[in-house]
Order: sequence, then C-alpha cells, then structure tokens
Amino acid sequence: MNPSLPALPGNLPRSNAELFARSCAVIPGGVNSSIRAFKAVGGTPYIVERADGPYVFDVEGTRYFDLVQSYGAIILGHAHPVVTAAITAAAAGGTSYGAPTPGELLLAEEISSRVPSCERVRLMNSGTEATSTAVRLARGFTGRDRIVIFHGNFHGATDALLAAGGSGVATLGLPGTAGVPASAVANTLVVPYNVVPRLDDQVAAVFVEPVAANMGVVAPAAGFLEGLRAECDRVGALLVFDEVITGFRLATGGAQEQFGVRADLTTFGKVIGGGLPIGCVGGRRDIMETLSPLGPVFHAGTLAGNPLATAAGRAALGELTPDAYQLLRTRAARLGELLTAACAAAGLPATFPVVGTLVGMYFGRGLAAGVAPTDFAEAKTTDEALYRVFFHAMLAEGVALAPGAYEALFVGLGHTDEVLAAIGAAAGRAAQVAAAAHAAG
Ligand SMILES: *Cc1c(COP(=O)(O)O)cnc(C)c1O
Repeated sequence: MNPSLPALPGNLPRSNAELFARSCAVIPGGVNSSIRAFKAVGGTPYIVERADGPYVFDVEGTRYFDLVQSYGAIILGHAHPVVTAAITAAAAGGTSYGAPTPGELLLAEEISSRVPSCERVRLMNSGTEATSTAVRLARGFTGRDRIVIFHGNFHGATDALLAAGGSGVATLGLPGTAGVPASAVANTLVVPYNVVPRLDDQVAAVFVEPVAANMGVVAPAAGFLEGLRAECDRVGALLVFDEVITGFRLATGGAQEQFGVRADLTTFGKVIGGGLPIGCVGGRRDIMETLSPLGPVFHAGTLAGNPLATAAGRAALGELTPDAYQLLRTRAARLGELLTAACAAAGLPATFPVVGTLVGMYFGRGLAAGVAPTDFAEAKTTDEALYRVFFHAMLAEGVALAPGAYEALFVGLGHTDEVLAAIGAAAGRAAQVAAAAHAAG
C-alpha cells in the first residue's frame, strides 16, 4: 500500500476487503447495484477511489485498465475535462430547482436533432425510469395492455419488464425475480430474440434492444428490426427501441441511424448523462403528448432534467462527433482482434463479437470458433466457469472486466492505441493462466 496516498473520507482504511466487509454490514450485499457484487465470479470487489481516462484506481492504490466504464455510461473516458468543467460550472449555479432550465432544453434539442423519430423528448433520472415510463405511455396511448419483450434483452429494474431477465438476472441464475407479482407480468410476453413474433391487436408495444448488449453482444439479424417495424404497423402496436446502451454509443443517431429503422418511442440513459444519473423517453409527437401535463399518462420527477446531469450529458454529446464514432468503431474492432488473438494463442476457446462500437465475449465450446450467438439460448452456452477464471486472471493483470459473463466490453475515447495494446498484452498472459487453470480443473 502506498503511504503517500491522501486520507480517504471518514479516514477509512485503505483495504478493499475491510471496506467491503464494512459495506456489507450496512448495504445489502455491499453494493448499490446487484451486478457490481462478485457473486457470479467469486471473490470481493475492488473498491474504487477514483478514475481517470481508461483507468480506475482502487483504495489500495492499484490501477486497472477499465473496460466496465460504468456499464456504458462513460464513453469519453473517466473524468474527461470537458465533462468535469461542465458539471463544476453547473453546480456553482445550484443543483436542482424544481423549475425548467435552459440546460434541459438544449439537451432535449440535441437528442431530438440526432434522432429524427424523437420529435418530443422527456428527461428523467435513469434508464429504468425511462423504460417504465415508456410502458405506461404505450399502454395509455394505445389503450392496450400487452407488452412483448425478447429473451436476453434487459430493460432495467421495472416490474412489467422483469418477466425474464437480461444479464443481471441470468447471471444470478433466477428465472425472474421475487417480488414481482404474477399480475405485473401477466401481460408481458417474452419471445426469442431475432425472430419477428406474430402479434395481435392486444399488443400495446414491442420493446427491443436494437443491438442486444446485456447477453454479451448480439447483433440484430438482417431484416429483424425492419420486420418488427412492419409487424407493429400491421397490428397498430408501438415499436419501442431501448437505446439505453446503443443510443449515442453506436452512432451519432444511435441504432436507428445505423440500421435505418424508425422507432415510435425510444428510451435512453447511460451516455446521455455523461456519467451522471439520467434517463429519457423520446418519440412521435402524438404519443409523447399523451404524457402529463398535456395528456392523461402521468409522469413527474423531483430531479428530472437535473442541471448537473443535463450539463454533463451535453458536454459528452458535444465530443461525440461522427469522427469520434469512427474512432470508437476502429478501437472496438481492435479490442476484439487483440482478445481473440490472446485467447487463440493460449488455446482458450473464446469468441469476441464486435457490433459497431460494442464488443461481446463468450467462452467455451458451446459456440463454434468465431461464430457469434444470435439469441439468448446460444448466448447462454457461454462457459461461466471459464469466464470466472479469465476474469480473475485479467484482474490480476490489471484489467477490470465486468464481474458477469453476460456483460459487454465498453471501449471509450480514453482507450488509446497504446492502452489497447497494453490490454492485449495483459490478455495474452491472462489467457495462458486461464487455459492452464482450465486444463487442470
Ligand atoms: C442499463 C440499461 C437499462 C437501465 O438503465 P438504468 O439507468 O440502470 O436504470 C435499461 N435498458 C438497457 C438496455 C440497459 O442497458
């Protein structure tokens, strides 16, 4: 441990294990989001003190190359100076007012101009709030109750959409979650990803991750999103793209731009807050104006359109030019190549599908070499035990992956070529360790 490090708040000891034990005594499982626990991989989490660009530093002073990037909320790299300055300037003017602000107007205009289907947008506090609001809005607008979702897609911690989980629930090995009454999901239909379901006129909306990024990374099959659009139109159902990950990570205009399919409603989060809490529902004017105060579907939030979050989000989007997305695509492809080469050299069976700026990972022989999964059943063939070994070998080499086998790898503008090369070299060593352990065990 480095004695020159400054004191932690509350004079806490600089020990991951001690702090985690103390957290467990007051916070259930020691974490405020269940996927942060190391339940799926074993061991105890590193406790982050600070982060900078591609790095996170734990309280013991250990530096990690970070491929978690707040599960995709960070895209410019940690503590990007433009974002930090925007937050600092905003905070000096007060942190929340309970009245409209210029900053929320500008962020709303920015989102609307990037995604043409978002003729109106409403800002809120999380991706979960966005998807739960979209459910209520779709039901209120159509007068129908049925919601269709896809196996392996994840839409946040909202009852109606927890009929089957994405990465979080799948990793915990539970079919759904306790505490959701059957009545809350009685109108939720869960169907296989990448197959256009036949709908009827009971369906209010189809919710889809246009690139599935909570079961590793699964690309939409050719014609899938177009097919959903046509089937929704046929029965008068709304097509809702959950772009909480893909929005402004995949392209200037998100997945809708990349795949040329227009959604009726879109949910955003993560990137649009520049690392601060945010969510957003955008969509067709007639649907969006069904929201209160114009229409009968209620929505409100004390901190919605928060001045710090909207300032951070605007600052982040300002850096996300078409050139930035080109760079992110190049880097995602490079990371996929490096990890593939590292595992191949060690004889470790693994596949790293790259979809635009997103990188997924699958281990074991459930999938033929180089073949990417197309649905949850195929994604589930990943060897979770092998991932556990690789995860810890990478952590020991100073690379932080998400502590779950179904998360995406998040590449940002902080991951320079040199950083990627260092991650590749670390992965080469980690793959050797993991292959040896796998062969032994
Ligand atoms: C993260 C995520 C959510 C939930 O967003 P929160 O801000 O964590 O509530 C919803 N949908 C998708 C696709 C996500 O990845």
